[in-house]
Amino acid sequence: MTDNRKVFQVKSAMIQAAHDRILAARRNAAVHDGDLDRARPTYHVGAGWHAILDDLVRDFSEIEGLGFLAAHEKWGELRVAYLYSGDRHADVDEIEHRARDLCLTTCWYCGQPGTMRKDRWWRVRCEEHWSAE
Ligand SMILES: [Zn+2]
Repeated sequence: MTDNRKVFQVKSAMIQAAHDRILAARRNAAVHDGDLDRARPTYHVGAGWHAILDDLVRDFSEIEGLGFLAAHEKWGELRVAYLYSGDRHADVDEIEHRARDLCLTTCWYCGQPGTMRKDRWWRVRCEEHWSAE
């Protein structure tokens, strides 16, 4: 039993250490200062949404302790990942919702006005880029 307990303790410590490393890596990766050169490689969306994300990253930098991690698309909508443990969640939500709403009317490819289409896949596209797909 003693051996089992030791194995358990060692495994727990290893899992905890791995978890701490992941958290540290996320903290290091987070962009707190509006640095677009660091933020842009994590925009996993079309170029049409990049200007919207640039504004979001700059707005995020106004909130102490808020770190932008990445952006991607899910069900045609913008999704934003960030690190935050402060108490201004309403402000963070407002910035995030503003960006998401803008993306709902902005072509993912070109940034021209677009609409959410729900044929085959859910995507926000302008007329030109919808017919090109
Ligand atoms: Zn377009």
